Amino acid sequence: MVDALQSAREVLQQVFGFSDFRPPQDEVIARLLDGGDALVLMPTGGGKSLCYQVPALTLPGTAVVISPLIALMEDQVQALQQYGVTAYALHSGLDAGDTQRIEEALGEGRVKLLYVAPERLLQERSLRLLARLQINLFAIDEAHCVSQWGHDFRPEYLRLQLLHERFPTVPRVALTATADPRTREEIRSRLGLLQAPVFQRSFDRPNIHYRLQSGGESGRQQLLHFIRQHHAEDSGIVYCLSRKRVEETAQWLQEHGLSALPYHAGLDAATRRRHQAMFQNDEVRIVVATIAFGMGIDKPDVRFVAHLNLPKSLESYYQETGRAGRDGLAADAWLHYGLQDVVQLRQMIQQSEADAAHKALELERLEAMLGLCETIGCRRRELLAYFGELREQPCGNCDNCISPPAVWNASEAAQKALSAVHRTGQRFGIQHLIDVLMGRDHPRLRSFGHHELSVFGIGRDLPANTWRSLFRHLALRGQILPHPEGHGGFCLGPRARPVLRGEEEVWIRAPATEEPSKSATGHPRSSTPQDELWEQLRALRLELARARGVPPYVIFHDSTLQEIHRRRPRDRAALAAIPGVGERKLENFGEDFLRLMREQQA
Ligand code: ADP
Ligand code: ZN
Repeated sequence: MVDALQSAREVLQQVFGFSDFRPPQDEVIARLLDGGDALVLMPTGGGKSLCYQVPALTLPGTAVVISPLIALMEDQVQALQQYGVTAYALHSGLDAGDTQRIEEALGEGRVKLLYVAPERLLQERSLRLLARLQINLFAIDEAHCVSQWGHDFRPEYLRLQLLHERFPTVPRVALTATADPRTREEIRSRLGLLQAPVFQRSFDRPNIHYRLQSGGESGRQQLLHFIRQHHAEDSGIVYCLSRKRVEETAQWLQEHGLSALPYHAGLDAATRRRHQAMFQNDEVRIVVATIAFGMGIDKPDVRFVAHLNLPKSLESYYQETGRAGRDGLAADAWLHYGLQDVVQLRQMIQQSEADAAHKALELERLEAMLGLCETIGCRRRELLAYFGELREQPCGNCDNCISPPAVWNASEAAQKALSAVHRTGQRFGIQHLIDVLMGRDHPRLRSFGHHELSVFGIGRDLPANTWRSLFRHLALRGQILPHPEGHGGFCLGPRARPVLRGEEEVWIRAPATEEPSKSATGHPRSSTPQDELWEQLRALRLELARARGVPPYVIFHDSTLQEIHRRRPRDRAALAAIPGVGERKLENFGEDFLRLMREQQA
């Protein structure tokens, strides 16, 4: 066992160029090499792939990796090939010739890793093929796809139990970045892994800086400031709720001189593929997308993920923001939300076809998301607590930690606002309610007789935008709810009563007065070097990538490139010592990079 782990360590060093495992990689690998099953829960970017790639290369035979998306498989296969590993992907996108070539290579025992889509794997033909091979491991990636409650549910995953029946002695490892306890238990029971130990790594992504904001200028205007200020040259993803918003936003960013393309399910498959490839190859900086985009994206150097709408749960938020900074370098998760988002999401849940239990669950998830928006404490602490990780200390790398928000006691104002909702009959929109509170007399208001109400004009002491932010807060907290019949009106929610009775205080953030220049203070600067050598290193990487038709990060990740920049290696030994430079990469790219370094120093 100790010997086996030692061989695994050699594989890690020689093939991948890394000196040590990141816990719990070593424990997972030891378990698999020992013939046991395992469930691995690690955040995106945590290093799940090596948990099965290293044992696949350590053991004789072929490892089979089940993955739900062709793009994901292709990405991994391409990366493995650059490390000199024989890996293929079997899926419906291949023609008969390709399939036959792969099957021959398998038959000859040359393939170390075979990626395969679940529906393909479960075909009798594939199962018979596997039965003739020496399979050393089954890795079930994105294992949360087995969860019927989740957003990535894939029915074929439910049949993967079959693997254990057909190949009872082959160890299985299931991996996911979805951590909530419910999903974890579903994976364990549905994949027949109840006996398997769970290996979990903290879900914290310390390199991600969280920033959530509302109010102020329009969301996209604020987004533009943010990108120009912090990420003018970086790759990023912008999420919007609807296709229309995606199109408009992409176009608007283009008009403002940024390199951006749209991505959503309404575009034809060829266009989607092209936009995705351009993003991966650094030919376009920003992709504006609906959530359709991302699951197949393994780009490690995404420097920011921005949301122009609220995600519908913390699971989604965590997963989407997790696509930033997979290489471990500083990255931003930025979100702007408005009252409209809350209304829209609540209505989507109310009007969905789902049964009552499902709706209640969705609503609960939305509440947690809204809680994160409204919190005045550390965002990271709140986020991790949701995933069951409690921590004492604030993180120091979120907006609330860096500039603690000013708050005020809005209890009395909240009572006035709720009374206005109540007295006007629980069916008017925010603008009308503000007019009533501020005593703005106009014919429409008069036509309802609202100028005669006791609440008319009782809120003249506060400006309209303060009322607006207060109503948004009340909506976020469920103290007011969108009227069931829509029309933009609001009624009182069950949580309004304690506030009206004075049993519960309402503390809210002081209205946003944030100016773009001010918001920059205390924001961690990106650690990317900015000099000629850096540009040359990037240009060389791009050239090598273009020549091979792969994305630049497949040649070297930014983190590896930065180490080269910092250490300025002069010979092969020095270059080989840099993390991410394995034997094959040293052989293929070493001379080119060393030549560049020598020219620099000449
Ligand atoms: P995940 O699949 O969990 O999202 P990956 O397997 O893609 O994560 O790994 C994320 C990044 O971490 C990759 O750049 C990978 O090369 C790097 N990485 C993984 N394990 C190690 C390690 N032991 N040492 C150094 N880098 C590692
Ligand atoms: Zn914090």
